[in-house]
Amino acid sequence: MEKVCIKSMLPGQVQEYMVSLGEPSYRGKQVFRWLTQGVTSFDEMSDLSKSLREKLKEKAFITKPEIVRKQVSARDGTVKYLFGLADGNCVETVVMRYQHGNSVCLSTQAGCHMGCAFCASFEKGETRDLTPAEILDQVLFAQKDSGLKISNIVLMGTGEPLDNYDNVVQFLRLVSCPEGLNIGMRHISLSTCGLVPRIRELSQLDFQLTLSISLHAPNNKIRSTIMPVNNKYPVEELIRACRDYFAATGRRISFEYAMIAGVNDSDGCARELAALLRGLMCHINLIPLNHVEGSPLAPSSRETIRRFQEILQKKGFNVTVRRSLGGDIDASCGQLRRKAMAEKRNQNK
Ligand code: SAH
Repeated sequence: MEKVCIKSMLPGQVQEYMVSLGEPSYRGKQVFRWLTQGVTSFDEMSDLSKSLREKLKEKAFITKPEIVRKQVSARDGTVKYLFGLADGNCVETVVMRYQHGNSVCLSTQAGCHMGCAFCASFEKGETRDLTPAEILDQVLFAQKDSGLKISNIVLMGTGEPLDNYDNVVQFLRLVSCPEGLNIGMRHISLSTCGLVPRIRELSQLDFQLTLSISLHAPNNKIRSTIMPVNNKYPVEELIRACRDYFAATGRRISFEYAMIAGVNDSDGCARELAALLRGLMCHINLIPLNHVEGSPLAPSSRETIRRFQEILQKKGFNVTVRRSLGGDIDASCGQLRRKAMAEKRNQNK
């Protein structure tokens, strides 16, 4: 019989599980508390009887990520982890330090299917969904190891969160529940390349999180050349879903726009973007493209980004240019994982 992943369960589910084992439901509360503290074995649950711990060991398991690599930026204190998972896969997690608190950037899949031209996370072949516990572990263990209290979460690491919808939703419930880490939805951002049906589904949950859309282009012609997902869900459909999302949740949407030299950074693009988003309560975040090894795409110049920002601001939009953290430690967009997986493949040859 396959063992169950107990850390993927919500408090009520752990209680039901304990009852199914013939235990009183308050045992579930005890177990959940231990899991939230980051224990990695049932033996550490010292207020459970030895026989119960043995029973749990037979029927359930506790995920235990291993820190394969850790890098700390000398410039800004950004900490980047490469966590090893039980099946030998690994995921990247980044802790960023801001004045308003520490933020953690989580991966939701090991690898990604979406194939955006500018992104290091895309890999042919093996990718897999992370379980709720594996996503939660990144917060638990980054916090535990770094000693930095995490107050904000962004789902902007490797993977497309809405392509792993059920596990991500379960994770969001886990991390925000009062018995758990209790990080409120208002402190969580979910970034998507634009899986329209899932955006609509998400809008029906009463989550107060910030939806962040990786837009990166104002029209189908450009967007389809850099983001294959656009062939399935074109720009107009995506923006319609965003307008409906705002209507359903009242939450302002955040648009990410990576500035790529000569591709999406002209004045015309800025004007087209303004027309596209007219009347939508949103925030636009311009990101100087992070150069990915081997890619022909380059970031726009600072001057171009400033002009682009000005055009949008003149039209009344709220526009910021993202400050880049951890530039000295490959702390962006799947670069550390990519290096580590390539090294591993070479070792296995
Ligand atoms: N799959 C999700 C979340 C992961 S990517 C999504 O697409 O939103 C997180 C963000 O980083 C996205 O906005 C993505 O487009 C952006 N990104 C990826 N590679 C980048 C690069 N080289 N430079 C700048 N931003 C990049």
